[in-house]
Amino acid sequence: MTAQVDQSVAWDEFELIEKVFAPLARNLPGAFGLKDDVAALPPKAGHELVLKTDSTIESVHFLHDDPPDTVAQKSLRRALSDIAAKASTPAAYLLAIALPAGVSRAWIERFAQGLATDQAQYGIALVGGETSRTPGPLTITVTAIGWVREGRLLRRSGAKPGHDVWMTGTVGDAEAGLCLLKGEAVLEDAAAREFLVRRFRVPEPRLEFGIALGGVASAAIDISDGLIADLGHIAEVSTVNIQVALDRIVLSPGLSALWGTSQKTLLRAASGGDDYEIAFTASVDARDAIVAAAKRTRTRVTRIGSVADGTGEVVLTDSTGSTISAAREGYRHF
Ligand code: ADP
Ligand code: MG
Repeated sequence: MTAQVDQSVAWDEFELIEKVFAPLARNLPGAFGLKDDVAALPPKAGHELVLKTDSTIESVHFLHDDPPDTVAQKSLRRALSDIAAKASTPAAYLLAIALPAGVSRAWIERFAQGLATDQAQYGIALVGGETSRTPGPLTITVTAIGWVREGRLLRRSGAKPGHDVWMTGTVGDAEAGLCLLKGEAVLEDAAAREFLVRRFRVPEPRLEFGIALGGVASAAIDISDGLIADLGHIAEVSTVNIQVALDRIVLSPGLSALWGTSQKTLLRAASGGDDYEIAFTASVDARDAIVAAAKRTRTRVTRIGSVADGTGEVVLTDSTGSTISAAREGYRHF
C-alpha cells in the first residue's frame, strides 16, 4: 500500500523516459533507445568533440506561462548557440529535467514536441539524461555534443589589434520581449510585440553561419550576457581593447517601435542578455569571405568596430567618435 499518492502527477519517471523521451532517441543507435545506463558515440575522424551544458530555469530564463514547446526550444537552443559560435556542428544532446510537483503529463508531452521540432531542424538526437522531481523551480539542463574539424575551433582568444569587430542579427530584442511579457512595457503594434516575445522565447542559434566562420574569424562568442559584456570576454582573453561604434549596433524594427533609436536604447540593447547572436573578430582581409558567408546562410552581419592595443576593455564611441563613459555591464546572475 502506498501511503501518499500525489494525484496531481499522472506520470512516473520510467514510463516518461520510455514513452516521451525514448522516441526522441530513435535515430541514434548509440543511444540504445534510452534502455541502457549510458550512450556511446563513435568518434568522428579528423574532428574534435565539442561539449557545452546550459541550465534553463523557470523565472530566470523562461516564465511560468510560456508555451512548453518554446521552453524546450529555448533550453536546447541556448546550448546550440555556444556550439554555433565555436564553428562546430551539433550531433546530439543530453537532457536533465527536474520537475516540480504539479507539472502535468500534457505539459511534458508538449515540451517533448518542441524538442522533436528542433531535432528535425538541426539534425540532432537525444542520447540520454536524467529525470527527477524537485522542490525547487522547473530546471532543464541540456548538454550539447558537437564536432569541429581539427584546428577549426573558434576561441575567445585570437583577436588582434587591427582586426574588425562584427555582430550577427540584432540585439536587445529578447530583453524587450521579456519586459513586454512581464507587463513592464506596452506595445500596441501586435506584430512587433509578437516578434520581440518570440526573440525571448525561441532564439535562433546561428549554426550555419558559425560553421562558415571556422578558419575565417579570429575570435568568437555567442551573445548571451549582452553584446558589451560578451565582447569584454573576447577583449580580456585576447588581451586587447575592443572599440565599438554605438550607432553601428543594429536594432530590429520591433525594438525601435518600442524604444526608439536613441543612444539610451542602443546602450540598453547592447547590454541586455539572451540575444544568442554571434559577436566575432576577423582580419580586414576576411571581409569579403564574411559577407559571402552571410549571404549564403541568409544571416545579417554588421561590422561594428575594431580591435586595438589594450588590456581587455570595451570602449564605446558615439557618432562623433567621442568615448561614451557610461558603458553598462551585461546581465549577471550573481
Ligand atoms: P540511472 O539510474 O542509471 O541514472 P536512469 O534510470 O535515470 O539511469 O535512466 C535510464 C536511461 O534513461 C539512461 O540511459 C538515461 O540516460 C535515460 N534518461 C533518463 N532521463 C532522461 C531524459 N530526461 N532525457 C533523456 N534520457 C533520459
Ligand atoms: Mg544506471
